[in-house]
Amino acid sequence: MTVTLITGANKGIGFETAKQLLELGHVVYIGARDAERGEKAAAALGARFVQLDVTDDASVKSALATIDSAEGRLDILVNNAGILADGVLDGPTALRAFDTNAVGIVRVTEAALPLLRKSSAPTVVTVSSSAGSFWAVTNPDRPEFNLPLALYSASKSAATMLTVQYAKSQPGIRFNAVEPGTTATDLTAAFGIGRTPEESARVVVRLATLDADGPTGTFQDENGEVPW
Ligand code: NDP
Repeated sequence: MTVTLITGANKGIGFETAKQLLELGHVVYIGARDAERGEKAAAALGARFVQLDVTDDASVKSALATIDSAEGRLDILVNNAGILADGVLDGPTALRAFDTNAVGIVRVTEAALPLLRKSSAPTVVTVSSSAGSFWAVTNPDRPEFNLPLALYSASKSAATMLTVQYAKSQPGIRFNAVEPGTTATDLTAAFGIGRTPEESARVVVRLATLDADGPTGTFQDENGEVPW
């Protein structure tokens, strides 16, 4: 049985990823802050919920310890938790977005490495964003990528680059990232556009279920192409 942890999976792309991996027979841990929504999501899907705040070291370590004592290993980590930045420095979530979307990946990955090392085919998939790519941010047809979103974009560039560097520094563990385009979730409710969370989750699932000798250190857009 494949043991999978998906951060930020009580709704949106993470929730749909959990659903699709459960259909493949994985044991799925949904990690998020909102326990009520998390427990409901887990019950609806047949997953397990573990409370997890990617901005809090103690919370991350405690969640991984729970999985370690129940399963003894982690086969797949999906770094999916994320929030939007709402200002350059002044918005209430501006700096928190960088801490959540970029530093959060380091917190969770570092805490998960010992458990991943206990798996025979460990893999990490990071949900970055097209907002982390130069072509998307500079594209005049994508007006949603404006200066107030700069910290979000920067956090997603960091998410992609962390994936590449982790792949180099952690041989034996596969690290790949996906940069989805705009997806209709709570995160983008203000834009009211985008593909469905099911579609974006499909790309995450494809990267999460590559053969054990599959690629590492890659980042792909939602069509499976290298965007840069
Ligand atoms: P949602 O807002 O629907 O889901 C975000 C999830 O992240 C929730 O489960 C939320 O749960 C969790 N989360 C937020 N902060 C934390 C935290 N500190 N610790 C743990 N969990 C947290 O958004 P999406 O599904 O759209 O986003 C999922 C990922 O996909 C994000 O990384 C986002 O940047 C990325 N993405 C989204 C795109 C889009 O257009 N929607 C496009 C490209 C990438 P809770 O609040 O309970 O913690």
